[in-house]
Amino acid sequence: MTDSFHMSPDDFRRHGHALVDWAAQYMERVADLPVQPKIEPGAIRAMLPSAAPEDPEQFELLVRDLDTVVLPGLTQWQSPGWFAYFPANTSPPSILGELVTAALGAQGMLWSTSPAVTEIEAHVVDWLVDLLGLPQEWKTAVGPGGGVIQMSASDSTHVAHVVARQLAVDRDASTDDVVAYSSSQAHSSIEKGARVAGIRHVRLIDVDERFALRPQSLEAAIERDLSDGLVPAIVTSAIGTTATAAVDPVRDVTTVARRHGLWHHIDAAYAGSAMICPEFRVHQQGVDGADSYVFNPHKWMFTNFDCSVFWVADRAPLLRTMSILPPYLQNAASASGDVIDYRDWHVPLGRRFRALKLWWVLRSYGARGIRHHIREHVRLAQRFGELVDDHPSLVRTAPVSFGLVCFRHVDGNGPTNALAEAINAAGDVYVTPSTIDDQRFIRVSIGATATTEQAVERLWSIIRDAL
Ligand code: PLP
Repeated sequence: MTDSFHMSPDDFRRHGHALVDWAAQYMERVADLPVQPKIEPGAIRAMLPSAAPEDPEQFELLVRDLDTVVLPGLTQWQSPGWFAYFPANTSPPSILGELVTAALGAQGMLWSTSPAVTEIEAHVVDWLVDLLGLPQEWKTAVGPGGGVIQMSASDSTHVAHVVARQLAVDRDASTDDVVAYSSSQAHSSIEKGARVAGIRHVRLIDVDERFALRPQSLEAAIERDLSDGLVPAIVTSAIGTTATAAVDPVRDVTTVARRHGLWHHIDAAYAGSAMICPEFRVHQQGVDGADSYVFNPHKWMFTNFDCSVFWVADRAPLLRTMSILPPYLQNAASASGDVIDYRDWHVPLGRRFRALKLWWVLRSYGARGIRHHIREHVRLAQRFGELVDDHPSLVRTAPVSFGLVCFRHVDGNGPTNALAEAINAAGDVYVTPSTIDDQRFIRVSIGATATTEQAVERLWSIIRDAL
């Protein structure tokens, strides 16, 4: 009879080696797995016992279930044939960083609950300010701004709306009157963030032929709301919308926001990663006029979910809004004012050591390595766009933007849907169709860690054969 149910360090080492082998093999064979599981709802649950085990199970059985229960029900986001949505990349240094984060099990709500968690995060996020060409004042080491890792772009955008609403209320606005703006192409997280922040009025501003927000329409909407006695509080511009990776005119939006005293938030969740290549920074001209900015290393920077970086140009309103200090969290370091307590920078109190995997990705690839892969994805997208342009049955529906190509069948929605179905029926590639103004189109998003030129050629051969 054992006196401990804990796994021994020796067994942990043995199973850990086996699992890292399993993960390495998974990376090698993911190209051969169907990208989308063919599975009926409830089929995975039906494979699980109805009750949790009373007695300990052999760990080998748990690992075996990865192949028999998990993989058959998994969408293979890491497949080289992943062209759907946007990428949700992982990479070996990120996986190993995540393993260490779990091993350390540190909770970094306060500087004092693990100084290394806070200081490495603050430092790595400051590195990213330089890597992405963002304003120096956004560094915590410089100020008055600063950056923090959040779970998702949705959380970051929600927080931006909470702060903007609070600033409006501080100026005597009633919460009921506060208004938020973004383009009609903005990600749904903006409307959701506004709603969760208690903002009842959300205006979706119309876009031009490139799907970018029209600043004149924004101005007109703000003026209409002002004359109705409402309180315009925040506008979000997108650098890389979800449907077409369109880029809003950041500088012009800042001009309008400044004129009317709005908070200007930038959602660069997808395309922010590309800013590590100076040639793409033309898309964020005027970024120094923004009040906050979010980008997701967990999309296109080889850092597995979750890792979303949120910067504010001035951290004072964020901390004023989010900070709350019960007696059990008080400590000398916080009272000194010399440390960052990241609990004040978002909704959750507890927080994981997410910076470790990002730190390891940046060091393991080097900025040069990340630039190399992003440029290669963009090159493949441009090449794919040319193939689309040269095909008489296809027409692009948006400019090729970053790693995203959008196109449709010349004969309209029915054939476009049929083409998307034929592509996905092949099994080893996956795309997502979308709709703008009742027009269906297919999005091909090139950016998975494992995607190669061969994978893009394979996608093109499936499309050609289906036409
Ligand atoms: N913003 C844009 C432009 C997106 O494309 C997405 C997701 O694809 C999001 C925000 C939401 O990201 P998250 O899942 O990190 O909340």
